[in-house]
Amino acid sequence: MSSLAQPLIDWHKIHGRHHLPWQRNADPYAIWLSEIMLQQTQVSTVIPYYLRFMQEFPGVDHLAQAPLDSVLALWSGLGYYSRARNLHRTAQILRQDHRSQFPSKRIDLEKLPGIGRSTAAAIAVFAFGRREAILDGNVKRILARYFGITGYPAEKSTQNKLWQLSEQSLPTHADQGRIQSYTQALMDLGATVCLRRNPVCTTCPLHSDCTAHKNNLTHLLPAPKPRKPMPEKEAILLFLVQQQKLLLRKRPSPGIWGGLWCPPEIAVDTNALTYCQQQFGMRIQSTLKLPAMDHQFTHYKLRIYPMILHVTTPTTSSDDQQVWLEPSMAIHQGIPAPVKKLLNQNFIVADNHAMQMDSHE
Ligand code: SF4
Repeated sequence: MSSLAQPLIDWHKIHGRHHLPWQRNADPYAIWLSEIMLQQTQVSTVIPYYLRFMQEFPGVDHLAQAPLDSVLALWSGLGYYSRARNLHRTAQILRQDHRSQFPSKRIDLEKLPGIGRSTAAAIAVFAFGRREAILDGNVKRILARYFGITGYPAEKSTQNKLWQLSEQSLPTHADQGRIQSYTQALMDLGATVCLRRNPVCTTCPLHSDCTAHKNNLTHLLPAPKPRKPMPEKEAILLFLVQQQKLLLRKRPSPGIWGGLWCPPEIAVDTNALTYCQQQFGMRIQSTLKLPAMDHQFTHYKLRIYPMILHVTTPTTSSDDQQVWLEPSMAIHQGIPAPVKKLLNQNFIVADNHAMQMDSHE
């Protein structure tokens, strides 16, 4: 056994998290769903989404047969929507090719959409008791500090080194729930003790052998991403209002917000009135520019310039890629988080203030 495993397993018995909703049994579906939701998202945020999802889609067949729109609507607000599209796709593949059962080997799980090596390993460990190593963000941080690895963890050679260390650190035997306890302990230690900022080393079961702690390097490890300026983009969102309803269009997939419903977006150098006339044959009676809003994606910042436009020409929707909805209905569709925020701020919270319809530029 490695020097990590036993202290972590002992620590987990007392200090680990044992009552998370997906820990109730070893249902591969529940474990898979939780692992996907937990990618880039904290446990406290995930729990209500997980519970709603399990209620609506309690198994592979329910999910596979659901319309993608319903899946995206339940996912709305959790971000990284490709995760929801991949969940849906994976459920369909399992139903079609695997009699709705999950494969139990990490290598087979990895072939399914949206399941990378670490997620596949976590499912193989928790659902099937396999002896597999994980390497999510928390584990990279623990191992980089414990072993004193100085490279940036996403860089290939550093990542290879960390994978090697993660494998070498596994408990020798996977029996009697040891592999599950050890893996959960790593996750819990990263979430509660070996924190990104100000790790609580004094309570850590690894502190006597930890390189970063012993050499006062916890603030330097793991190495931060080499700095590159974050690109910025701009766009105008057109909130077209007609008879108390808003026009939403389905975003093309793949792409940012792919498959979600969104007000039409135009470039900042496009004339909104000309666009509405040419694109939809609409005449606009009044316009209102709302304050700009910034939204942070992983790789760039988007500055959104929202505009409310009151449409006078009667317009019907004969296209299944667009729909007119009251704001109170729109808010429950699969819509991006900043659009939800703008709807809440300007159409719902504002006491339905005649949907800003009397406002003029
Ligand atoms: S001793 Fe500190 S830095 Fe080292 S693993 Fe524990 S919490 Fe992390």
